[in-house]
Amino acid sequence: MAEDVFKKIVSHCKEYGFVFPSSDIYDGLGAVYDYGQNGVELKNNIKQYWWQAMVLLHDNIVGLDSAVFMHPTIWKASGHVDAFNDPLIDNRDSKKRYRADVLIEDQMAKYDEKIQKEVTKARKRFGENFDEEMFRQTNPRLLDNARKRDELHARFKAALEANDLDEIKQIILDEGIVCPISGTRNWTDVRQFNLMFKTEVGSTAEGASTIYLRPETAQGIFVNYLNVQKTGRMKVPFGIAQIGKAFRNEIVARQFIFRMREFEQMEMQYFVRPGTELQWFQSWKEQRMAWHQALGFGAENYRFHDHDKLAHYANAATDIEFQMPFGFKEVEGIHSRTDFDLSQHEKFSGKSIKYFDPETNESYTPYVIETSIGVDRMFLSVMCHAYQEEQLEGGDTRVVLRLPAALAPTKLAILPLVRKDGLPEKAKEILNDLKFHFNCKYEEKDTIGKRYRRQDAVGTPYCITVDHDTLTDNSVTLRDRDTMEQQRVPISELRALLEDKVSITSLLKKLA
Ligand code: ATP
Repeated sequence: MAEDVFKKIVSHCKEYGFVFPSSDIYDGLGAVYDYGQNGVELKNNIKQYWWQAMVLLHDNIVGLDSAVFMHPTIWKASGHVDAFNDPLIDNRDSKKRYRADVLIEDQMAKYDEKIQKEVTKARKRFGENFDEEMFRQTNPRLLDNARKRDELHARFKAALEANDLDEIKQIILDEGIVCPISGTRNWTDVRQFNLMFKTEVGSTAEGASTIYLRPETAQGIFVNYLNVQKTGRMKVPFGIAQIGKAFRNEIVARQFIFRMREFEQMEMQYFVRPGTELQWFQSWKEQRMAWHQALGFGAENYRFHDHDKLAHYANAATDIEFQMPFGFKEVEGIHSRTDFDLSQHEKFSGKSIKYFDPETNESYTPYVIETSIGVDRMFLSVMCHAYQEEQLEGGDTRVVLRLPAALAPTKLAILPLVRKDGLPEKAKEILNDLKFHFNCKYEEKDTIGKRYRRQDAVGTPYCITVDHDTLTDNSVTLRDRDTMEQQRVPISELRALLEDKVSITSLLKKLA
């Protein structure tokens, strides 16, 4: 069922110009996608919402746009050359490749599903008298699944911490995990696979040197931190925000734009005095959750997932997960990275990048809190939540994208009722006035009903219809996407009425 919905969302994205497979006429390229005419607007609005929440609302956060190519030693220093690996495993029968850690995580999710099913069943049976707490503590089937899940969790965590690939394979065998395609347990050994793309700079083979496409935007911030601090006269604590492309040679290309090989990140590194990092970590957790929830998708669709395996340099890490049609999935990571990255760059570059704190009169390497969110994953979560099929009175159905108005590609569709009698001219007059203030679309083809449906399907929050009365009373019919209610509004009032509802400022005000 949920899978069906997800398939529909994917085809809706293509049919309405949101997301196309890359190189479509050549049958696509794995895990690479292009954004169409509506997709690019939605994506830009998401980026703007993030950028403004960071850079506009915080006077101690500034932006940066660093290059994709960087000195190769940066990736030695950051640990990506040696340790940016995923454990992969192949099924010999289907020849399909999987991430071993993901297979095990899916298995844990299965136990959780079983537990949830028992609870739902019991709630139905006992009705109002149902005591969930008591049920969870006493039901033998539920307890058995909870025990299995906890044991698996503990074993998996230990294997990850010890980097024990044989044990990871053994877990897969012991749990009886089968390949979803072949249905067999004919697995290869687990191997590590580096996710960085390599290429060469320089024109001659001898003179050329290997460089990497950046797998994250963060390192561009770290190596520029002192440039920005000095030229911007920034005082700790301060942050640097960046939006840009990142590249990872992902082993498994599934789930549409959830896991791509070329994607975009929005990262912010917050430089703080050592010892204050956990306080800031907590503060950024709260701020980032508020940013997500301001979109109005419902608090129950988000949760924090604290990391089992902390990277050796991190002293706290959590993910913000969102309920996608295929379960709760990571959309954003928040990490307390200590002084690891800056110290590594100091060591590898041989240059001091310490910060002199004028308040305490001492020099130190700042600690860093990072917030890192994928634009494309955010886009997917917005799409998944917005997509709805709705039964209307009279037996009709409609597909409506309930996008937050501030993120919608088009804010207002301007529709002349008919293509004659001076209505198109009047409609264009309105367009030529309002287009300076927000994204408007003019459409005159097809019946008004069909045009409404098309706008619903791309998430346009408001439509106005210009009819014969408009010519005399200078009013239009304003239709609301969600309620489908219509009201008569003077043209002169449109801008004031809509601007506040459709602007990103309306979202930002919820954060202030
Ligand atoms: P995952 O465990 O899903 O591979 P990650 O923990 O490696 O993700 P980070 O390195 O923390 O991810 O990257 C930060 C964010 O960048 C993620 O929360 C996600 O939104 C986004 N991201 C990472 N990898 C991809 C990808 N291959 N495609 C799309 N977005 C991605």
